[in-house]
Amino acid sequence: MFEESGEDLTPISRLGEFGLIEHMTKEFVVHNPAVLMGIGDDAAVYAVSDTTAHVVTTDLLVEGVHFDLRYVPMKHLGYKAVVVNLSDIYAMNAKPFGITVSVALSSRFTVEAMDEFYAGVQIACDHYDVDLLGGDTSSSRTGMLVSVTAIGSANKSDIVYRSGANEHDLLCVSGDLGAAYAGLQVLEREKEVYLKNPALQPDLVGRDYVVGRQLKPEARGDIIRILREHGVKPSAMIDVSDGLASDLLHICKKSKKGATIYEDKLPIDHEVLLVAEDMKIASLAMALNGGEDYELLFTVPLEFYDKVKALKGITIIGHIVEEIAGVNLITANGSMVAVQAQGWNHFKD
Ligand code: ADP
Ligand code: MG
Repeated sequence: MFEESGEDLTPISRLGEFGLIEHMTKEFVVHNPAVLMGIGDDAAVYAVSDTTAHVVTTDLLVEGVHFDLRYVPMKHLGYKAVVVNLSDIYAMNAKPFGITVSVALSSRFTVEAMDEFYAGVQIACDHYDVDLLGGDTSSSRTGMLVSVTAIGSANKSDIVYRSGANEHDLLCVSGDLGAAYAGLQVLEREKEVYLKNPALQPDLVGRDYVVGRQLKPEARGDIIRILREHGVKPSAMIDVSDGLASDLLHICKKSKKGATIYEDKLPIDHEVLLVAEDMKIASLAMALNGGEDYELLFTVPLEFYDKVKALKGITIIGHIVEEIAGVNLITANGSMVAVQAQGWNHFKD
């Protein structure tokens, strides 16, 4: 039997999410030469021919941790569970083609609720042109768990890793940042209001964009296509799931580089500014640490400056520097602060 407590046992919170993953996986070696990337990127990569590679990624969503069914409609949950995985496939510069979907359900769930969930899964499959390949179904004693695995393919030479950033590369991000977090704050506030007085209807007026970004995110396959059409291949890429700060640090750590980003260049929607003011949270903190944006953060060689600058929906937010210079933000008033990961980290104290 496992010991449940003891003085010399280590609480998981001491390692945090990323420390735990590293700890659990450090003894594993890759046995198969086809494996081009195992643990440590947005998706694993393995060669299926001399020229083609497949990529695979998986994500687990837990009720009460990742979603709250008091304000997340089942259809949206199904859609989002697929999208968050496709985002990791695109982050490798690959094209998704299939998913498996596994669910564990407690007895409070109905067939009608699951019809809604799978309607959302299907809309995502149709929209992103991927096939539902299978899954698994189980009962649960504690609410709902959803696990989605996605696979995709790419030319081997097109795959983009987190580790490819070079000094002087431009740092680019698609779309805007912080809106999904702002949407979550709005939904949480309205939930509290509702719990206190169920007669009150939620007030989401003027907050459609941020609420939409939380409930119905999209994976940026369009950005992958646009870059390809313009002959721009990123040198490194990650999707922004844990917050810009955390995900930028992943690129820098894997690439053994530093970075400088500029506060006044960060793309932030005006609704995020309104929510930030309402909630007395700095909009900068939302953009840096919010998470769940599912935008693409990538680096491109400086020679692509003109091309990237001209592309709609892509913002140059800074550049890559040597590792010793660290990862820093230049604030609007010109001071320099070290970028720290305060994004989502399971198990942190
Ligand atoms: P992302 O945010 O892009 O989904 P994660 O931070 O979840 O990536 O995971 C980072 C890396 O660690 C990935 O390569 C992932 O496959 C791996 N990983 C996460 N959890 C585990 C685990 N329990 N066992 C083995 N590998 C894991
Ligand atoms: Mg990712």
